[in-house]
Amino acid sequence: MLKLIFFLVFLAIFSSCFIWLADNDGVISVEWLGYQIDTNVTYAILAIIIIFFALMTIFRFFLFIINIPTFLKRKQKINNYERSFLKLTEGFVALSQGDSKAACKSSEQVLKIMKNQPLALIMAAKSAELEGDTKKSEKHYSALLENKNTKFLAVKGLLDNAILRNSIDDIVKYGEQAYKMNSDAPAIAPTLLHSYKVQKDWDKAEILLKKYSGDEFFKNEEAAKIAYVKAQEFVESDIGKAISTLENAYKKYPAFTPVVILLAQLLFDFGKAKKAANIIESAWKNQPHPALTEIYLKIIANEKDKIKLKKVLKLNASNPSLSESNRIVALIYLANEDVEQARNYAQLALEHEETSVLCNLMAEIARKSGNSDYVIETWLARAGNADSDPAWICGKCGTKDKKWDLECNECESIDSVRWISISSLSGELGLKDVTRKVSLLG
Ligand SMILES: [Zn+2]
Repeated sequence: MLKLIFFLVFLAIFSSCFIWLADNDGVISVEWLGYQIDTNVTYAILAIIIIFFALMTIFRFFLFIINIPTFLKRKQKINNYERSFLKLTEGFVALSQGDSKAACKSSEQVLKIMKNQPLALIMAAKSAELEGDTKKSEKHYSALLENKNTKFLAVKGLLDNAILRNSIDDIVKYGEQAYKMNSDAPAIAPTLLHSYKVQKDWDKAEILLKKYSGDEFFKNEEAAKIAYVKAQEFVESDIGKAISTLENAYKKYPAFTPVVILLAQLLFDFGKAKKAANIIESAWKNQPHPALTEIYLKIIANEKDKIKLKKVLKLNASNPSLSESNRIVALIYLANEDVEQARNYAQLALEHEETSVLCNLMAEIARKSGNSDYVIETWLARAGNADSDPAWICGKCGTKDKKWDLECNECESIDSVRWISISSLSGELGLKDVTRKVSLLG
């Protein structure tokens, strides 16, 4: 619309000029190279305009001829880009379908055209990754390190490759770089922490956990685990430091049972039985545990029968819902020769779970009650058929240990030891493997 207005204005001015020239015409006489040209002004101006446009057309034609090679090159470039984008699309579709061969073929074609363009390198790296060619994918990721926009992606890719190669040094190297660039990126902090644990670099693990803010539960439980292994190292050289490390961990995160057990055990072993009892009594409401029962029974061993009973009933009252809370009371009643009450509490424990420990306890109660051999043998048979008792078992190899540790003593897996029963684990590992392991343990 604006163009039309300008054109009409221009046409009006142009026509007015010519009308004015026609009304005020004169004569122009030119003599050049022996020629004599006589014409009026209007024709002269028209001739100049026509000559000007003719020259312009010739000039543009020559310009077009000169630019033909450049034009062809540009056209070729556009064609190449269109082809490479088509190949990129094909490559990414192949990647999403998990077709490594097609993805690698497309990426090679794209790389030929696009050379070191980030998008081409990303596809080449991902295709090589899918094919399992870590060397090739690392080469492409390393090229992407040069570009600040793709640096994080490159470091993350190199980290993933290092994980595939199980190279702890490289996991730490690239994990630290990735964490520095984006501390909120998922899985980087846990991966880095795992590597520090494998390297037994507790100081770096603690610094990382102090900085990490993604998941409070993860952070606190992991801090408790690190405190546990550090305390274990201190036990030989500085028992005070071992105890204070565990006390701090317990204060910050009381839910990690191995810390409670080790703390109570060390306090008891080094003459602080009252403090050990306090720890167990406060932890019991959240985590009654057979190892705590064992320590608590040692702590109260020299008390009078009535006091012992009062204490374990108090423990039971703080958490009557779990099997262990009833088992500890049954044990004290049995020691006090009150078999009826011992049976009552053992049966309450059995309502939660039928384990071999509880069935053996029932057999002992039956024996002390003067029951027939048949009753005792029935309980012993039930003990043989019952679910195995929970224990500290490695989730990777099925090895049972007396206490929790960060590293499995058998297969050296990190974070694989859990308080679990063999039957629960059999579903995870395959029954055959577990049965074999347990038979080895005797
Ligand atoms: Zn193991």
